[in-house]
Amino acid sequence: MTKPIILPLFFLLITLITVDSQAQSQQLADRLFKVHETYREASLTQRRFKQKDILPLISKRQGNALYQIETVGESFEGRTIQMIKIGSGKKKVLLWTQMHGDEPTATMASFDIFNFLEGKNDGFDDLRKKLLDNTALYFVPMLNPDGAERYQRRTMQGIDMNRDAAARQTPEAQILKGLVDRLKPDYGFNLHDQSPRYSAGRSPKVATISFLATSYDYELSINDVRERSMQLIVGMNKVLQKYIPGQVARYADDHEPRGFGDNVQKWGTTLVLIESGGRVGDPEKQYIRQLNFMAILSALDKISDNSLTKENREEYYNIPENGRWVYDLVVRNATVRQSGKSFTADLGINRNEVNYANATKFFYYSKIEDFGDLHPQYGSQEVDATGLTIEKGKLYPTAFKNVSEISKLNALNLLREGYTYVRLAPDANTRALGLYFTTAPLHILRSGQAVPTGTPGLGATATFILKKAGKVKYAVINGFVHDLDDFNAEKGQGIVE
Ligand SMILES: [Zn+2]
Repeated sequence: MTKPIILPLFFLLITLITVDSQAQSQQLADRLFKVHETYREASLTQRRFKQKDILPLISKRQGNALYQIETVGESFEGRTIQMIKIGSGKKKVLLWTQMHGDEPTATMASFDIFNFLEGKNDGFDDLRKKLLDNTALYFVPMLNPDGAERYQRRTMQGIDMNRDAAARQTPEAQILKGLVDRLKPDYGFNLHDQSPRYSAGRSPKVATISFLATSYDYELSINDVRERSMQLIVGMNKVLQKYIPGQVARYADDHEPRGFGDNVQKWGTTLVLIESGGRVGDPEKQYIRQLNFMAILSALDKISDNSLTKENREEYYNIPENGRWVYDLVVRNATVRQSGKSFTADLGINRNEVNYANATKFFYYSKIEDFGDLHPQYGSQEVDATGLTIEKGKLYPTAFKNVSEISKLNALNLLREGYTYVRLAPDANTRALGLYFTTAPLHILRSGQAVPTGTPGLGATATFILKKAGKVKYAVINGFVHDLDDFNAEKGQGIVE
């Protein structure tokens, strides 16, 4: 008689315990999210920082009993690469960031984590003690400083070091392999940024954080090592959903025999890949940095007490894969006139970043990257051009001596008359010969630069007008939309080509 009662009670108890531990995880994550502002490293404010910006943050910690700082090697160009050890526990965790030079979000978060671990009397002392007693954290921030110097993915040698885990022709890859061999870490965090334009599954939302429990073989097998990686990801996904609902995704898990993630997993370390993606309105990824801080510390908490094993690895597969491309701008249903005929097309436009000022700053250069039926795809910004005709803008008849003279023009009047292009005189004073930007909402052409011909289409710079009943309604200049009925010249992100 008792059995039928006891069994459901037992499952009820298990369910209650699980719900309770999930509530605790969320509570901790929420508190970490909140406290981030206190520990945000104030000297890192945007993505284009270099090794010289983080060296003082490392050297000021020399002599602090919390840390052991060790030089682990040199980049190809001779920049010293350092490892920062914190904690004295048995579980070894190796965390490296920015093996791709233009992927700095987790580097910023790492210094926030150091600041946090130095704090006290803020309600987190128990967590700090638990982390430092049970784990030894080995951080290698900015593994590819030469790439960061140029804000480029690849190393100075032109090699993608995440495809160099097997051949190891870069000193940076040799350093990482050496550390994995020497430390034999139980856990590894391979911290990256991905394109900000992946959607989470088929949704219109961009993937703000993507995860991968890397595969150690082509069969995508799951051993204990990889299972723990899935469990860690399941835990991080749960706490992130509150902040970025529907915007967590997972990278396709095809085995990459040259990748570090795949090989480290194969060499026996539970490896978690975290990719910081995109978020509309957060181009410098400061919110995503805060999410990194919260998610990484949450995961370290679960490593420190082994509570990660309570997560169900099957839930890993419920996370949607990185999906289709989300364009920065989609113009829908524009009427295109070509060769005396008329048809409807969508335009997929991306605003690509171009480095300048020694790769400390960037401007946007926007291209029409797809043209035709884009109904399954989305834009972070969308313009409904139903009933509007797309046309190439006209060239203003006067040439100017310099960009600042052009900036003084009444851009709204020009755009209303259909002028999108303004030319610089042959003797014009321009800062540089290459591509440059202007705050004027106009498309400036250097002398000798041909005026685009034909209907704006695939591959063209995203400058055109959209007319309604013969009147210009929208001007799109370098991928930025200007509604002429609600015009704001301040929003200019023009281009000098
Ligand atoms: Zn990367």
